[in-house]
Amino acid sequence: MGIRAWLRPPRHLLALFGIVTIVPAVVLLWLGWKVIQQDRDLDGPRVQARLDREAARVSADLGRVLDRIAVDLPHWLTDPPTSLGNDAMVVRLDERGVDAHAGAPLVFVPAISTVAEAPSSIWESGESLEIRGDPAGAARAFLSLTASSDAGVRAGALMRQAGNLRKLGRAEEALTAYRALAALTRAYVAGEPADLVGRIGVCQLLASLGRTPELAADAASIVSDLARGRWAIDRATYEVRVDQLRAWTGVPDLSQGVALAGAIETLWQQRGASPRSSSLRTSLRTDGHTVIVLSRTVGDGQLVFAATEAHLAREWSALLRVDAATASIEDANGVTLVGQPPAAGQRSAVAAATQATPAWMVRVTASASPAELAAARWRRWLIGTGLAALVILIPTGGYVVARAVQKELAVARLQADFVSAVSHEFRTPLTAIAHLTDRLQRDSDIPDARRTEYYAALARDTHRLGRFVETLLDFGRLESGAAVFRLESTDLASVVGDVVGEFRADAAAGQHRVDLTPNASLPPVRLDRESFGRALWNLLDNAAKYSPVESPIEVELGRDGDRAVVRVRDRGIGVPAGEQRQIFRKFVRGADQHNSGVRGTGVGLAMVDQIARAHGGNVRLESEVGVGSVFSILLPVEDR
Ligand code: ADP
Repeated sequence: MGIRAWLRPPRHLLALFGIVTIVPAVVLLWLGWKVIQQDRDLDGPRVQARLDREAARVSADLGRVLDRIAVDLPHWLTDPPTSLGNDAMVVRLDERGVDAHAGAPLVFVPAISTVAEAPSSIWESGESLEIRGDPAGAARAFLSLTASSDAGVRAGALMRQAGNLRKLGRAEEALTAYRALAALTRAYVAGEPADLVGRIGVCQLLASLGRTPELAADAASIVSDLARGRWAIDRATYEVRVDQLRAWTGVPDLSQGVALAGAIETLWQQRGASPRSSSLRTSLRTDGHTVIVLSRTVGDGQLVFAATEAHLAREWSALLRVDAATASIEDANGVTLVGQPPAAGQRSAVAAATQATPAWMVRVTASASPAELAAARWRRWLIGTGLAALVILIPTGGYVVARAVQKELAVARLQADFVSAVSHEFRTPLTAIAHLTDRLQRDSDIPDARRTEYYAALARDTHRLGRFVETLLDFGRLESGAAVFRLESTDLASVVGDVVGEFRADAAAGQHRVDLTPNASLPPVRLDRESFGRALWNLLDNAAKYSPVESPIEVELGRDGDRAVVRVRDRGIGVPAGEQRQIFRKFVRGADQHNSGVRGTGVGLAMVDQIARAHGGNVRLESEVGVGSVFSILLPVEDR
């Protein structure tokens, strides 16, 4: 039987099977789905725990970094590390203002120590000439003072002289005076460094003279000196001068320097206001920058570290490096000081960075880790696939086992049927023989005619028993593979003729007429006469058994391609389509035959099939219920 036929399920088995296996499989599937969902739900707490750990670690690291800065501050003042760059500075403040400074340029200072300028009485004579509208006289008066040994006096005189010369239209002389003023690097005039005033004066003159290229170069150099924090000036002066310069040259973005200086200024201004704490950590939002300020009191003064976000991003990036997450530092209001602000909706953890007030927080925000994601995906895939395999295996395994058991049961049932059929086959003739023998023994008055009849019946039954025993022995041999076939080149027509003749004479033929249509043109075939004869006998016997009394049986010889065909046709009950394959299996009898009382064991057709195969041929059946059947044995003809 083919694997497909074997697998084809009987209907009741499918129902049983559905209950026994599909239900547990569905339950298993549901459970698996739940497990996967739970695993997914657990991902959240797992990630949160990791973030909490990382936040605590980063905040501890940050604490250490801040402590380290506090310790290093005094050294940095004298020996600034290059890491301070252009965006961080250290200053020492005292009540007069900035006392010492290192690192990024301090573009303006919170307070300027008063610088001694020349007494105003010196300028009286020159200024009175100015008032009287005599700039030439005033210029001369100031000229005499430009040679003073006091730098302050010299600076004041040069500024005033230059002003008068401009009024007189003596531009070249005024320019010389301003340049001389610009050369005075240590003096102050009108509260500003003399050289700054002088250089601005030069620019104003150049502007009025239309000497643009010179003007642009001079103005740019002042801008760069301002940006480098060359002058200790206050914020107002710085801003006024930068605004002025903007008219003459391009000014780069100076906001970082302004923010740092602004932070120092704010801190200095707050000195009196806030209670003096020995150490302070704060952040200021000023001039478009976030500046963090760390300070500690040392003696009378205050050591201050100020840095912009650019510095922190550069120097603290290693500190904020977290696997599969981004870390940032926030102030107490949740404003991000360093790092990326967390994106909305992302899982994050927060840890206090310091004990200082206002506190800084470290926030660690999850970004899905590829490894974590891959592990979760792999885990779910394993669970899913395992379950799917189970769900497939349970019904399949269950089905195969059920089918095998069912087959075994069917075989056992067939065997039981076979045994009872065999017993019946024996018992019927044996009972008759016993009965006749008894009559013959006991009754000596039996008329001769009757006695002859009895003997004939005895012979018939004995013959029938013998043939049956032969059949069983043959079947046994075929089953065990012990059957030996002696194939010889044979004239098929003559063998068929012999068997048909023998069958006609046998009781098994009953009332049936057996017609043989000969065929003289058949080539010889290789045959074992005896076993082929038995196969054909079986077909004839069946034709007689399964067709009405007196219906004809036709035997035809023919050819089908390179094969010879022996057909046995009857007009009997026919074989239902569903049984046409089954009946060739051993012990299988037609469903109707179990009840109809037709004798039989179910081994006949199995033998016919095996014998045909042993000859290199096969058996074919065409049948219609109620019309009749044609069983054909096809055998290869011998090559000539
Ligand atoms: P048995 O005849 O002893 O039952 P077989 O193996 O010879 O066993 O036949 C198997 C079954 O095939 C029979 O029980 C019968 O149902 C069916 N069968 C065989 N030959 C015919 C036939 N000529 N017409 C109808 N049914 C047949």
